[in-house]
Amino acid sequence: MILTPDFDLTRENTLGLKSTARLVARIEDASVISALLDASERHGLPLRILGGGSNVVLRESVEAVVGLMRIAGRRLVEQTATHNIVEAGAGENWHDFVAWTLRSGFPGLENLAGIPGTVGAAPVQNIGAYGVQLSDYFLSLTAFDTRERKLCEFDRDSCGFGYRNSRFKSDPERYVILSVTLELPKCWKPDCGYAGLGRLGADTTADKVMAHVLALRGAKLPDWRRLGNAGSFFTTLWSALHMPIASKGRRAIRSPTAA
Ligand SMILES: Cc1cc2nc3c(=O)[nH]c(=O)nc-3n(C[C@H](O)[C@H](O)[C@H](O)COP(=O)(O)OP(=O)(O)OC[C@H]3O[C@@H](n4cnc5c(N)ncnc54)[C@H](O)[C@@H]3O)c2cc1C
Repeated sequence: MILTPDFDLTRENTLGLKSTARLVARIEDASVISALLDASERHGLPLRILGGGSNVVLRESVEAVVGLMRIAGRRLVEQTATHNIVEAGAGENWHDFVAWTLRSGFPGLENLAGIPGTVGAAPVQNIGAYGVQLSDYFLSLTAFDTRERKLCEFDRDSCGFGYRNSRFKSDPERYVILSVTLELPKCWKPDCGYAGLGRLGADTTADKVMAHVLALRGAKLPDWRRLGNAGSFFTTLWSALHMPIASKGRRAIRSPTAA
């Protein structure tokens, strides 16, 4: 593990806030976590996990050991009589994962296309959009319990999912999510009940729904890569460490519209 001091996080958060972390390491597999915990104890700093940085407000100086979640990989685990079971590493980009499932012939996640961030953060606030939320398709996840220092598995019931909520959000420092497994029904039906998707007919395809969702999202919010913005579900996480400050570099706005 390479621990980098005074790491610039400006490009690691979608608001583009200028921020420097005391110590940073990339998490490319689970074995790094124990070493990160050791470093956190040695330096007397908390361990924080950063995915795509699309739901955090960073202080100018982050007094923490920050693990940049980069665990890669996505695969078809199993095809049962009723479901396609797919898994992705926590560091995978969420939208790329959704697009991969559709390309692979496993529809279901199309309404969740275009949500910024990583697969590993998706269960934290039980991401949702256009009438669908992660928990609708969630099967299980693997996490590292930083208190017990061991790997553990969570099924849907044990995640405590609620509206943009989960046990991982209520107890943010305890678990590092490593991978997420979803079950996508083979018997696919479009979910077009949400306003804006209604004009797609019952015979539409998952690709068309995804394209429509991306167009609707693009019309409501500017692209955060060009103009830093907080999306629609803006939660100040890492609250003990971070306070909102003016965005530097990119101009930050908060949109009152739903993404
Ligand atoms: C333009 C825009 C549009 C958005 N639209 C939506 C939307 O439609 N629906 C929606 O639900 N959300 C939306 N969001 C919010 C955001 O995309 C989600 O919350 C997303 O899941 C955050 O992912 P991330 O990887 O960027 O998380 P980060 O911002 O990096 O982290 C968020 C929190 O999760 C924790 N975390 C991250 N990864 C892990 C991990 N592997 N293990 C444990 N904890 C972890 C972090 O410590 C932090 O507390 C939007 C945000 C933006 C900027």
